[in-house]
Amino acid sequence: MKSRLTIAIQGKGRLSKESVNLLNKSGISFSVNNGNLLAKAKNFPIDILFVRDDDIPSLVNNGIADIGIVGDNVLIEKIIELKNSNIKKVLDLGFSRCKLSFAAPAVKNISSLKNKIIATSYPNIVRKYLIENNITAKVVNFNGSVELTPYIGIADCICDLVSSGATLEANNLVEFKELLKSQAVLIINNDINNKKMLYVEKLIKRIQGVVNANESKYVMLNADSSDVKAICKLLPGSESPTLIPLEDTNKVAIHALCQEPVFWETMEKLKAKGASSILVMPVEKILN
Ligand code: ATP
Ligand code: ZN
Repeated sequence: MKSRLTIAIQGKGRLSKESVNLLNKSGISFSVNNGNLLAKAKNFPIDILFVRDDDIPSLVNNGIADIGIVGDNVLIEKIIELKNSNIKKVLDLGFSRCKLSFAAPAVKNISSLKNKIIATSYPNIVRKYLIENNITAKVVNFNGSVELTPYIGIADCICDLVSSGATLEANNLVEFKELLKSQAVLIINNDINNKKMLYVEKLIKRIQGVVNANESKYVMLNADSSDVKAICKLLPGSESPTLIPLEDTNKVAIHALCQEPVFWETMEKLKAKGASSILVMPVEKILN
């Protein structure tokens, strides 16, 4: 029974850098040589396959790769196409966030899609949406430059990925309906053998630890003992904070692991409740 794992990640594109970072932070070291299809990790039984993102769900589905990192948008599209897939989504990874939306040259609504031509790289998701909403329209598949199709007159509207909205604006398109929100996700093949599964579980725990840490901050501040209750209430997503006595007997240091972002507004509120010397620090890894 083979125990060495294979993970498929995007070789070149918007997911690549963060996918490599995530694996490195999970303690997997390998060298990335531009253009190489395969890298072998030195300190974990795993090979890394660098491929096009569209191929990742199929590679995991047929077991050529045991694990993959891919955008949820690409995964959902493939799962509809496959009907019966062998892929399990195990973790949201918190990067490459975007949404899949309808957009058109002038603001429209969903009912105005009737009998129109919609250009998209996600024909299965769009067709499913149209069927569910009883709308008849023509869906045409484009694998690139979808945003140009209304301008050259080959589509009335598009369904494409949006992050900042700058590409839509540059092409005079207005977003009028969001279909889904997406981010990078970790997927695994459903039939991984027991020997491999031990390593897959270990890897998932490590990756989960890195993702949790990315979303967490360690907050340290000083406060009068009388203000502790009010201050602790304001610390976002913290469990039981640690209180440390200070030399000045009226004062304590409060340390808390906050599992949600700590914004400037929160820090200003903490200060207004009497907190001083507020430090917000990044967290590298968390093992629960
Ligand atoms: P490939 O050559 O591997 O097929 P691609 O051009 O299809 O690459 P990229 O543009 O690198 O793909 O995007 C990969 C993924 O990054 C998308 O599927 C999506 O999940 C995510 N993403 C995040 N923000 C955006 C955005 N603004 N536009 C497009 N994709 C985005
Ligand atoms: Zn692609």
